[in-house]
Parts: sequence; structure tokens; C-alpha cells
Amino acid sequence: MTNKQSPHKTLIQDHVDSYPVPPFKQQKQPFPSLVSEMSPVPDHGEKTYKGSGKLVGRKALITGGDSGIGRAVAIAYAREGADVAINYLPEEESDARQVIALIKEAGCKAVAIPGDITEEAFCKKLVKQAAEELGGLDILVNNAGRQQFSESIKDLTTESFDATFKTNVYAMFWITKAAVEYLPRGSSIINTTSVQAYKPSNILLDYASTKASIAAFTKALAKQLGPDGIRVNAVAPGPYWTPLQVCGGQPQEKVEVFGEEAPLGRPGQPAEIAPLYVTFAETNNSYSSGQVWCSDGGTGTV
Ligand code: NAD
Ligand code: MG
Repeated sequence: MTNKQSPHKTLIQDHVDSYPVPPFKQQKQPFPSLVSEMSPVPDHGEKTYKGSGKLVGRKALITGGDSGIGRAVAIAYAREGADVAINYLPEEESDARQVIALIKEAGCKAVAIPGDITEEAFCKKLVKQAAEELGGLDILVNNAGRQQFSESIKDLTTESFDATFKTNVYAMFWITKAAVEYLPRGSSIINTTSVQAYKPSNILLDYASTKASIAAFTKALAKQLGPDGIRVNAVAPGPYWTPLQVCGGQPQEKVEVFGEEAPLGRPGQPAEIAPLYVTFAETNNSYSSGQVWCSDGGTGTV
């Protein structure tokens, strides 16, 4: 319907049926899974995100930028005018290539840096390479994550517990520590926690614990870096339809009904959360630091 008072078309859309609702088919993929093999394929805003110059001239590093939430953030940042470096695992090269092409299509510089962030030496190299190739760094999005469900603490191995903490907590520490050497005043660090930090599932003991660590790390670091003019915040997604969930993040019977319990009756699509990362990064939002913003389809977790 067109508003007679305004030359603009009304862009309102139904929040429930504009995106896929469960049930979904079972679809186990090996870790790390690919966007291209998911059904339905997640919506990262490829066809919909429109920028308005909010991040012109900015330089961002996004971990896990090949798929899911990180991909949606990479697309949004580029369309807002930022040059973007993405990190991902070498097995995800095909997903990453699509993101690199989309960043370039937006007219921005795109840098691809594959590698495993569970190694401290690589994390240092990643930040250095990103800053050198982008010609600086003023936005860091710590988004890569590992989630493997385990029914019982008796089955949760030290190796798996360790890998989850290395990926979600240690890598964030190593990457952030390296990045502060480059970040000028006015920079923004955005971490990705989860509703799991606040309402942990019984089968995500290690993952939920890492996400609580990320929330605390964010608030403590915001206090530390405030005097340096650097803001530190976190986004807490609820159930989002991404590769993480289909490669061991959830049992397959939960994948079938994923997002069903949210008041909106469906999972979020990555395109729906990217605006929070844009808002945290942009200069207009200069007084928000030490915050966790949640997007969980109406559950009201945080
Ligand atoms: P995703 O699988 O698309 O992204 C996770 C990415 O992490 C992968 O693409 C991979 O590139 C990266 N990664 C994992 N291990 C790595 C390693 N060792 N080295 C380098 N990169 C590695 O899934 P997503 O859901 O978009 O996940 C993004 C973030 O969102 C994660 O931190 C996740 O915990 C968080 N999150 C997701 C949900 C959800 O429902 N999908 C909910 C809450 C929080
Ligand atoms: Mg991926």
C-alpha cells in the first residue's frame, strides 16, 4: 500500500511469514558446514540490505565472515562503505569466495585471510595482515564460534571442551590483544555472545560457559578501553538459521523444529541481526559501550 502523504512506498512486512518457519528437514553436515548446502539456504541480506553510508572509510576485520551472522555483517558493512577483511577456515573457501565477491560488488576492498584461530600465532598474523592490507583497522568483530552439543558431562571430552574455549574465548582474547595495537580512538570492538550466556541449555555446557565469558570480557574490556576512546560491545543472538546449527550444534531432531519456541515462531535469519552490528560500529552511536544487545525473536532473554 502507498502512503498518499509520502512519495515513499511502505516497506512494512510481516515479521513471521517473511522468513522460513519450521519444520525444516534434517541435514547433518560435517564441521565446518557450508551455507550452500543448507536447506533452506540462510538469508544474509544478499538481495535486501541497503546501505546509507554509515561506515564510509571504515576498516573492519570480521572472524567467521564466510557464513551465517559474520557473512551478513560483512555484506552490511561493505554496503555501508567499509573495507572488510574476513577470516574463516580453509575448508570454507567456497563460502568465503561468495562473500569476497559481494564486498567487491559494493565497491569496497575485500581481504580474505583463511586460517585456524585456535592457534595464537595465527591470530597475531591475522590481525597484522588485515591491518596491513586494509591500511589500518578500526572495527573488530569477534564472531567465529564453535558449538558442539553433548548430552552429558560424562561424554564431554577435554579435547572438545578445550576446542570450544580456544575458538570462542582464547581466540577472542588473542585477536583483540593484537588488534588494540592498531585501533585508533573512535574504534569499535563487537563480540558475539549468545542467549546461552543467560539461559544455558543442558546440552551446551561448554559452549554456554564460553558465551558467559564473552559477555563478562566485553563489559570488563569496555571499562579498560573507554579512556582510549574505544567502545566494546556484544551481540547476543537467539536461535539463528546458520551452518553452526547443522554440523553438531544441535541434535537433528532439534534442527527440524529450530526456532519454533520463539514468540515469532521461527529462527532468525542472519540478515535480521546485521543491523545491530552496524549500529554498534557506527560513530553516531558513540555513547554505547559495555552493552549486550539481544535479538531472540521475542523471548526476552537478556
Ligand atoms: P557459522 O557457522 O556461519 O559461523 C561460525 C564461523 O566460525 C564459521 O563460519 C567458521 O568460519 C568460524 N570458525 C569456527 N572455528 C574456527 C576456527 N578454529 N578458526 C577459524 N574460524 C573458525 O555460524 P553462526 O551461527 O553465524 O555463528 C557466528 C557466531 O554467532 C558464533 O560465535 C556463534 O556462537 C554465535 N551465535 C550463533 C547463534 C545461532 O543460533 N546461530 C546463536 C547465538 C550465538
Ligand atoms: Mg562458515
